[in-house]
Amino acid sequence: MRLSLATESSSPSRPNEDFVGVTSGAVVLLDGAGTPGGMESGCSHGVAWYARMLGSTLLAEVTQSVASLTELLTRSIKTVASLHDFTCDLTHPGTPSATVAMLRRTDDSLEWLVLADSVIILDTGTAEPTVLSDDRLERIGALHRAELDALPNGTPEHTEALRRYIEVMNGHRNREGGFWTASADPLAAEQSLTGTVPADQVRAAALLSDGASRLTDLFGLVTWRRLLDLLAHDGPQELITRVRAAEHDDPRGTRWPRHKTHDDATAAFWPFPQPRHP
Ligand SMILES: [Zn+2]
Repeated sequence: MRLSLATESSSPSRPNEDFVGVTSGAVVLLDGAGTPGGMESGCSHGVAWYARMLGSTLLAEVTQSVASLTELLTRSIKTVASLHDFTCDLTHPGTPSATVAMLRRTDDSLEWLVLADSVIILDTGTAEPTVLSDDRLERIGALHRAELDALPNGTPEHTEALRRYIEVMNGHRNREGGFWTASADPLAAEQSLTGTVPADQVRAAALLSDGASRLTDLFGLVTWRRLLDLLAHDGPQELITRVRAAEHDDPRGTRWPRHKTHDDATAAFWPFPQPRHP
């Protein structure tokens, strides 16, 4: 198993709330979400803690069990909730949560799971790669983002509009008709998008947090095909370097309106060498 990855926090002074980890035959990528500093969350541990605990629990589960990825996520959400339900208010709307993207390879198949806005890309050898994503968060967010997008990043007005936006979005999280993330409720796992593809049809796979996928799905600077080629030839760190360069060219979010000028960014690239036919 030859896999390359890179992860970088939005700024050296902030903890990285993304998580990426690998075990034999599986890779797990999470993007923690919660409340910005100054907002009440009901949890004393924080978002980075939540993402690391859920990610490492998922890795332990996938190492020990052949249950479905959905079942593994259900169990892991329960386990992590049990680590702090006696100290924290897990019913608080701002309780820490995380996106999940997960791949498991067995002898003949590749299983995938995505929940919320992390992305999995499969290179199936065709011109257009297969992009696996859960767009519910994006669709709900688009309905409530106009005021926020109109304000320049880094201003008090933007910070205040972001606070209001997060409050509104918290009201749609893990609700029917809203969007779903891993948080305190194990039922959210059943809202994951999942699938299985024959392993011999996939040449490579990439997992990206939205801080890394933004080069394509927000900035539109490269196609998904070009992004996969970039990962294959220059590696995940180069992808993040290009994201940072684009962000620095648009510090106020005028060309590409976005909540965070910089976001935690994580990319994993997993090539599958094809068997040689005589
Ligand atoms: Zn807690």
